[in-house]
Amino acid sequence: TSKDHHPSVPGRVRVAVRLRPRNAEESVADADFADCVELQPELKRLKLRKNNWDADTYAFDEVLTEFASQKRVYEVVARPVVESVLDGYNGTIMAYGQTGTGKTYTLGRLGEEDTAARGIMVRSMEDILADVSLETDSVSVSYLQLYMESIQDLLDPANDNITIVEDPRTGDVSLPGASLVEIRDQQSFVELLRLGEVHRFAANTKLNTESSRSHAILMVHVRRSIKGRDAGHSSENGNHPHSVKSLKPPVVRKGKLVVVDLAGSERIDKSGSEGHTLEEAKSINLSLSALGKCINALAENSAHVPFRDSKLTRLLRDSFGGTARTSLVITIGPSPKHRGETASTIMFGQRAM
Ligand code: ADP
Ligand code: MG
Repeated sequence: TSKDHHPSVPGRVRVAVRLRPRNAEESVADADFADCVELQPELKRLKLRKNNWDADTYAFDEVLTEFASQKRVYEVVARPVVESVLDGYNGTIMAYGQTGTGKTYTLGRLGEEDTAARGIMVRSMEDILADVSLETDSVSVSYLQLYMESIQDLLDPANDNITIVEDPRTGDVSLPGASLVEIRDQQSFVELLRLGEVHRFAANTKLNTESSRSHAILMVHVRRSIKGRDAGHSSENGNHPHSVKSLKPPVVRKGKLVVVDLAGSERIDKSGSEGHTLEEAKSINLSLSALGKCINALAENSAHVPFRDSKLTRLLRDSFGGTARTSLVITIGPSPKHRGETASTIMFGQRAM
């Protein structure tokens, strides 16, 4: 694969916006109102209405309308990242937006009854399993929840205090305490995701919280034996075809795909009577704003990316920026009632560009 096939350039965050269709409630309640946004997918632009006669216009790498299929969303948002993971790089796919705008629909739908509905996690694994050869390669996954700066294993609910270990020399991030399950077929992967959801619901019931208050993180490790195959990162050395091949080729090529279904970005009412809510709000704000700062630093090519500021960004350190490909999908709804939240989601996406 050549670099031209990767529309996402390493080190830069590629940003797509996806609009959810009106739901039943919005179709009735807002029947007389215009949607707060107007999409111009061919121009890759979005207009956010200020009032009846004026709008602000924003450009994105991709603009996905309410008619965009799950397949198209996968191709635009995820496939370039998955391909680079298969080439031995790390990569991140994230969904950011207000609760109810389609983050989980976009990333996590299993589509067991309706294959057209399958989301990015399931489609990514399909492409990965189709490309690797299980005699020589291995694919393994961890599935985690990050809640209030603590990491829980969604594949082993007893395991609720996972620590992040960073290799000071290579910068590699690992989670030695997290379950790592080898995947040999698509069906067992889908079952694992479903089990993870069950564990997530149970954990959140116990913690008296909702899944929208935590980040769900899927990590897919692809380890390929490249003996007898084209060795080295040829896509990175297009101008110097001999520079890599003249070196002794490495025997394994490792790539890691991280898919993050972020906590809802909405401003949480901090005056909520439960003390819990305030702590949650602070924690979500901390991690999302730390993520925003890292994205911003990458967009500005800044020498310092403040990964250390939260567990979320520490986790992403080796799969974000540098040679990693990163894709962010921001999800929005059409209702003028949530114009403020929609505007702030759009601004988060704009900061990455
Ligand atoms: P979030 O994870 O951001 O809170 P969800 O993914 O749970 O949001 O979506 C909220 C609701 O909207 C769900 O009922 C979901 O099925 C529906 N929905 C979201 N995106 C779409 C879409 N593109 N097409 C149809 N329904 C959608
Ligand atoms: Mg969700």
